[in-house]
Amino acid sequence: MTRRSVLRCLPGLLAATTVRSQDAPVRIEMGGGVIEVTFGSDQFDLPRQKIVDWVTLCARAVSSYFGRYPVSQARLEIQTAQGRRGVSGGVTYGEGGAHTRIRVGQHATEDDLNRDWILTHEFVHYGFPSMDRDRHWIEEGSATYVEPIARAAVQALPVEKVWGDMVRDMPQGLPAAGDQGLDRTHTWGRTYWGGALFCLLADVRIRQKTQCKKGLVDALRAINHAGGNVASDWPIEKALEMGDKATGGKVLMTLYGEMGAKPMEVDLPDLWRQLGVERQGGQITFHADAPLARVRSAISS
Ligand SMILES: [Zn+2]
Repeated sequence: MTRRSVLRCLPGLLAATTVRSQDAPVRIEMGGGVIEVTFGSDQFDLPRQKIVDWVTLCARAVSSYFGRYPVSQARLEIQTAQGRRGVSGGVTYGEGGAHTRIRVGQHATEDDLNRDWILTHEFVHYGFPSMDRDRHWIEEGSATYVEPIARAAVQALPVEKVWGDMVRDMPQGLPAAGDQGLDRTHTWGRTYWGGALFCLLADVRIRQKTQCKKGLVDALRAINHAGGNVASDWPIEKALEMGDKATGGKVLMTLYGEMGAKPMEVDLPDLWRQLGVERQGGQITFHADAPLARVRSAISS
């Protein structure tokens, strides 16, 4: 089996500009897991504790989604992006145990850290097994889909933003002319947002079929709790069948049949109407009388 060991979530920006310090790692215990955080330097405007608090909040968001921190041990290497602000260059590895490298700007502010989505996205990767290259879309898609929902669950992101960004960004996941399905079309849009669209459709269908008693979250928890994490290599069928079993149906395997080897058209404007989400000039309105309003609130509750 081919081991794909690197989930490179933002291309480029990876050249190390720091020297590793000799400090002992900072240990963060969260949801039954331990994250060992090392700092390349202390050249930040922010006190180190603020960065540790940000890591802790991202870990709490992901633990809340998976029902626990998705791996028992993880290593996080924080590098300094000299002269810059914000967070960039997240890369997650499964080989040799879950670990991530990420760059925090020397001049990053608390607000930059509050707005960051990258570290939560990387931590979500810990909760899903590694797949072969053709199935990379389910790894990136699930991280793209789960990250804002997990942050909203710990009040790190407003629910309006979860849905507003989805309405804005999901069209990038639709098949273009010549598309051959998610397994065979490895563009950026189909990998990240095509995979996220798969997850959204799966979540909606599971909740429709179970009167909102189950959701994609139950499938992903079952996969993770059975040992599916970034350090394990699984075929996609094993993960999806396990998710189907946990949610009492065949939604995931059926949807994989519809989207894996061929393009599937999705009427997104109609889906948003059914879910009761309206985005007008950046302003989000929820419609409680929409047919799937209950599904929408269950997803982001
Ligand atoms: Zn990623």
